[in-house]
This record gives sequence, structure tokens and C-alpha cells, in this order.
Amino acid sequence: MGGLLSVVIPSYNEEENILNTAQAIASVLRGEGIAYELLFIDDGSRDATYDRIREAAQADPAVRGIALSRNFGKEACIFAGLNEAKGSCCVVIDCDLQHPPQVIPQMYRLWQEGYDIVEGVKSSRGKESFFHRMSAGLFYKLMSRFTKVDLNASSDFKLLDRKVVDVLVSLQERNTFFRALTFWTGFKSTEVEFEVAERAHGQSKWSLLGLIRYAVRNVTSFTTVPLQLVTGLGIACLIGFIIVGLQTFIRFCMGRSAEGFTTVILLLLFIGGAIMVSLGIIGHYIARIFEEVKGRPKYIIRERTEDASSREGADGTNR
Ligand code: UDP
Ligand code: MG
Repeated sequence: MGGLLSVVIPSYNEEENILNTAQAIASVLRGEGIAYELLFIDDGSRDATYDRIREAAQADPAVRGIALSRNFGKEACIFAGLNEAKGSCCVVIDCDLQHPPQVIPQMYRLWQEGYDIVEGVKSSRGKESFFHRMSAGLFYKLMSRFTKVDLNASSDFKLLDRKVVDVLVSLQERNTFFRALTFWTGFKSTEVEFEVAERAHGQSKWSLLGLIRYAVRNVTSFTTVPLQLVTGLGIACLIGFIIVGLQTFIRFCMGRSAEGFTTVILLLLFIGGAIMVSLGIIGHYIARIFEEVKGRPKYIIRERTEDASSREGADGTNR
């Protein structure tokens, strides 16, 4: 089988990369004789990203573009792209060429062999600042712990069969975590290793705070393990209470009244802290429930490159 391959490319403030990336991916796929469409999703960029996408679409009819009404984040972009994709399989790839397009044909071959999911796995993390590597390392360790999916080497660079795409876009949830969800679907999957390249232009937009927020959001939207942690904390407090209580009782029986004002303060602080952290964790879940219940869409589409050309056709002007 030789079905159409849709390449979904989330792009946020990537004006310097669009044309170059479109060119690079297209030439690889054309060279391999793979029928393709390139779908750029402009995530509410503040620069000329969408203009570049329009230019790319004019240069190559296989290129399409969608602009979201504002910045919704990479997750929303990926889902917007999957929703619009027409191919029998989809590849999700970064716009900065950190995911090498040369790997796509290899993924495509594996798909032809019958795999439904081909995961791009990082063989190295490429050149990153020490600080970024540390925070990303911590992030993945935490995430892998909580989601019970090994995320350390995983990436958003994947090929998905139509079946998988249909499952993902039909999910009701708003707070999604693409990287782990493909594991969750359980379809037949395999891996392809790739070397993370250096960012082509511009710089990564992740700050430490951004990463922490992303981690908390993903953990609380994917698993309830932190809630069980709260139970564990409560049990630990109770055990401490029993031990200290017994000790006090024995001392009391031996006629030595318990001394230790500090112990009281420490205990108060510990229990107070534990309760507040627990409430915080629960609060995050309530926030997720609140967001899900409101049922707002994951993203809003402002315009498509196809719309622009039909408008030109209608009134004869070239915008
Ligand atoms: N991206 C996006 N929306 C955002 C942030 C990033 O669509 O709000 C896109 C970005 O254009 C790029 C990809 O997600 O194609 C990865 O972003 P980046 O290179 O900044 O992250 P990193 O490679 O450091 O994980
Ligand atoms: Mg990048």
C-alpha cells in the first residue's frame, strides 16, 4: 500500500524556518516517491509565520496551512493538525528541523510493514545548555514516574496510522498529553532512533517555569497517581502519630511527663504543610475537572490557506 502521508508541523514564531522546513521535508519525500501533504499549524504566532506558510502553500500545492486564533500551545496544534490531516498516516514533526526529515521515509516503510505507531526515539538530546538539560532531565524523570510510561527518550516525532489518528481526535478530553497518549492507545508500535539536530533558527521557547507548568498540567491530566500520594502522606502522618503517642504514653506511665515544645511546633508545621500540599494537589485535579466540564474547544481556527485562495477566486483580488 502506498497511501498519502500527512506531515503535521506545529509552528510558533518560526518565520525563519517555514520555507526552509517545507523545502527540506518535501524534497526528502519527493526523492522517495512518497505521496505527501504538509500541514503547517500556526499557533497564533506574533511574527510573519503565517505569511511564510501562505508563500509555501503557493509554491507547492501539497502544502496547506491553518492559523489558530491565538497561541494554544503545541498540544492543541498537534490535535488541530491531526484533525485536518487527510492522509492514511500522519507524521508529527517540529518546525525547527530538530527532528530530521530524513527519518520520515524509514518511518513510512515501517508503517507499510504493518506498524500502526512508529515512535521517534532520541538517541541523544542534541546540544542544549546545561541548565536546560538538567531541567528537562528532571521533568522527564518526574513524568515517567507518574505516567508509568518511559518518556525519557520519547519525543513528539511520531508516525501514526489513520486508525490511531481517528482514536486520538475522537477523545473527549481537553487536557491531552500527546506523547503518552499514543502509548496509551495500545496499537502495534515500533521505534526509530534519531539524532536530535540543533535548532535551525531562533531559540527554544521553554523556560524553567514553563516546563514545570507543562509537567504539572500533563501529570494531572494523564494520571491520578499524585492523589494516591496524598493518601500515602496521610498514612505516614498517622503512623508518626501512633509512634509519638505510644512514646508519650510510656513516658507518662514512667512518671516522666513529655517535654518538648519544639516537637509540637515541628509537628504542627509538618501536618499543616502536608495538608496544604495535599489540598494543592487536589486543587489541580479540580481545575482539570473544571476545564473538562466547561467543554471549551482545544483550539479555534482563524483561517486556512485554502480559504484565502477561494476568496481570491471570488472577488478577483489577490490579498
Ligand atoms: N510550538 C508550538 N506552540 C508553542 C510552542 C512551540 O506550536 O506554543 C512548536 C514550535 O514551533 C516547534 C515545536 O513546537 O515546532 C517545538 O518547540 P521548541 O523547538 O521551542 O521546543 P523544544 O524543541 O525545545 O522542545
Ligand atoms: Mg525545538
